[in-house]
Formats: sequence, structure tokens, C-alpha cells
Amino acid sequence: LLGRDGTAVPTIFAEMSALATRTGAVNLGQGFPDEDGPEEVLEAARSAIAHGVNQYPPGRGMPDLLQAIAEHQHRFYGVHLDPQRHVLVTTGATEALAAALLALVDGPDDEVVVFEPYYDSYAACVALARARLVTVPLRQPDFQPDLDDLRRAVTDRTRIILVNDPHNPTGTVFGRETLEEVVRLAERHDAIVLTDEVYEHLVFEAVHTPIATLPGAWERTLTISSAGKTFATTGWKIGWISGPADLIDAVLAVKQFLTYVSGGPFQPAIATGLRLPDGYFTDAAASLRAKRDLLGEGLRHAGFGVSTPRGSYFTVADAAPLGATDAAEFCRALPARAGVVAIPLTAFVSPEHRGDYATLVRFAACKRVDVIEDAVARLAVLA
Ligand code: PMP
Ligand code: GLN
Repeated sequence: LLGRDGTAVPTIFAEMSALATRTGAVNLGQGFPDEDGPEEVLEAARSAIAHGVNQYPPGRGMPDLLQAIAEHQHRFYGVHLDPQRHVLVTTGATEALAAALLALVDGPDDEVVVFEPYYDSYAACVALARARLVTVPLRQPDFQPDLDDLRRAVTDRTRIILVNDPHNPTGTVFGRETLEEVVRLAERHDAIVLTDEVYEHLVFEAVHTPIATLPGAWERTLTISSAGKTFATTGWKIGWISGPADLIDAVLAVKQFLTYVSGGPFQPAIATGLRLPDGYFTDAAASLRAKRDLLGEGLRHAGFGVSTPRGSYFTVADAAPLGATDAAEFCRALPARAGVVAIPLTAFVSPEHRGDYATLVRFAACKRVDVIEDAVARLAVLA
């Protein structure tokens, strides 16, 4: 995690956002929306601050937010949660992931199986826990796994199968068959399923199936989500994790010494968000889908090979048809060539597998329509 000179290596997202700021390029790199979320949610935070909700909230989270998370899981997925035992509020999904991994794995005999490419914090947290990361490749062109690869990867050493669905960076939504196999393997090898579902509401032409709702899954599954994606409040850092009481208690034991508690006045605001009518959630997906289509069309026009994502903020494009052989080099040159910032997929891949994803680039679609239009007009110079 440290560079050769002893300084912290910035994440690829920080590095690429800094590059966009420095060059004035359109930032389709880091996945954050450039428009505010619902006014009701923003107003609820202002009101909480004005009304003195500014001190440490309870460690598990404010009771009303815990209740709203439980109501949300019931409304959308039919899951019954006891808000005080089955839910924990965290400082973003990032802290939920870190606390769960630090709580549940320890040392090189514990293996964490993950689909690759994977979100960057997974490998970092597995390293912090000194555990071993075992990867299962997502195969092109549709970035689905070969289930035989998955079966080979999961053994009695596997403590956690870590799933991210919908998937960052590929935009894949896993099929039911894959999710069921994850549960079957976890049962067979007595592993825990840790599932990062932060893009749960951002699915297109697909239905989100929480792993925890599959037969046999609940008692061994921890489900993570985040308000950042659903309410366009990535800077508020309110996330949550839900699952059986014994696993949640283990995560809480670590969380309390990472951040103690999370984001006082934002908690009632996110409770308001979680109680918005269904239309809010479907409109958010429909709006992002239109942006995905605009971006995909522009990327194709510019000469990229484009796979159409079924969820998440992201679209993966292959720069090989444009003559690229190294996506990292291509992305470093892109601001000067076309005035756009994007992220090489190799940033989400362990060093020994980078060759398999060498020419792929991730573009974020969670930006205003005029920003995407500007970006695709700029990218047309590549054609
Ligand atoms: N998991 C995935 C798959 C993500 O894409 C992100 C970030 N955007 C996170 C976790 C982190 O979420 P948060 O900002 O809530 O910490
Ligand atoms: N999750 C966002 C992305 O994938 C960014 C998060 C971050 O900056 N760490 O772009």
C-alpha cells in the first residue's frame, strides 16, 4: 500500500480525478454523480444539522435508520430483519467491507475467493488481514464466470466468498445459477458469503437478486450496501451491512475501533431516502440507463468495442480496435488526445492477470447528459 518512497500510493480513482482536474478533461473515471440526489434527502440532512443532530450517534446506527434499512429490505426483497440485531450502519460500504474482512479472516491460511476484476479495496483489505486472495476470472465478452473455475477456487481453506453484484468495474449482473453455486459452495465448505450490492437499484434489463434471499444463504451471508450510489451522496459515506446477529456482532466489534460511529446528521437523511416511493428508485435506474446508452453509442462511434452493462455506473470498452495494446498507457494519454479521463481495467486486476484485460477501459456513465455528450463529442477524434 506504500510506494517505494514510503508515501501512500493514491488509489486509481484519486489519481485519475486529479489528472482530470489538472488537464481540464471530462472526468468519466471516478464513479461519482455530478448532480445532487433527491431534495427531500438533502433537506432532511440540513434539518438534522439545524436541529442539533450533531453528536455521536449510537454505535450500530440511529434506530430510525436501522428501521428504515429493515423496511427497505422487506419492501424490495421480502427479507425480514430485526433492525437492532441484523443491521449495522457503517462509514460507507468501504468500512463495511474492511470491518467484515478484518473480523472474519486472519492470516495466510484463510482464503477469500473473489471474481476478478474486483473493486480495489477488496485486495487491500484482504492484505490488511494478511489473508490470501484467490481470484476467479470473469470471462469476456460478457464478464460472466465459468462455474468450473469457481468450483476449483473454493476449498476448505475458503473463509469468505466475496461477491459484487451488480459488478464494478464490468457492469455485469450475475445470473441466478452463479449466485446459487456461490451459496452451494459456501455451504459445502462452511464459508461465509460477503456480498457487496451497492448498485442494487442501478440495474437495467435485469432484476437484482440479493444472495441472502436464496435458499440456504441467510445464515451465512453478510450483505453490504451504500447510500452513496442510491441517493447520489457518495461524499456522505453512509453504508450498511445486514445479516445474522452473530456475524453482525463480529463486524461491529471491529467497526467500533475503526470509526466508532458514522455520520450523525446524514443518518436520518438516508432514512428519509430509503422511504421514498418506488418511483424514485425506478427513475434513478431509468435515467442511468439512458446515460449508459448515450455513452455506449458514443464509444462505439469513436471505434471502441463496447459491452453493454446490465447494471452499475460503468461501461467497459475495448481500445484494441483503436490500436491500443496497454490500457494504462492509453488512459494516461487520453486527456491530451481527446480531453477525457477513464480508468484502465488493469487497476482492478491482480498483477499476474493484467495481460488478460490489457486493452480494456472503464468509463463512468453517472454524469449529467450534457457532460456525457461533451465527452463522446471529444472521443470522436479517435475514430
Ligand atoms: N463497493 C463497490 C463495488 C463500489 O463501487 C464502491 C464505490 N463506489 C464501494 C464499494 C464503496 O462505497 P462507499 O463509497 O459507500 O464506501
Ligand atoms: N467506487 C468508485 C469507483 O469505482 C470510486 C470510489 C473511490 O474513489 N474509492 O469509481
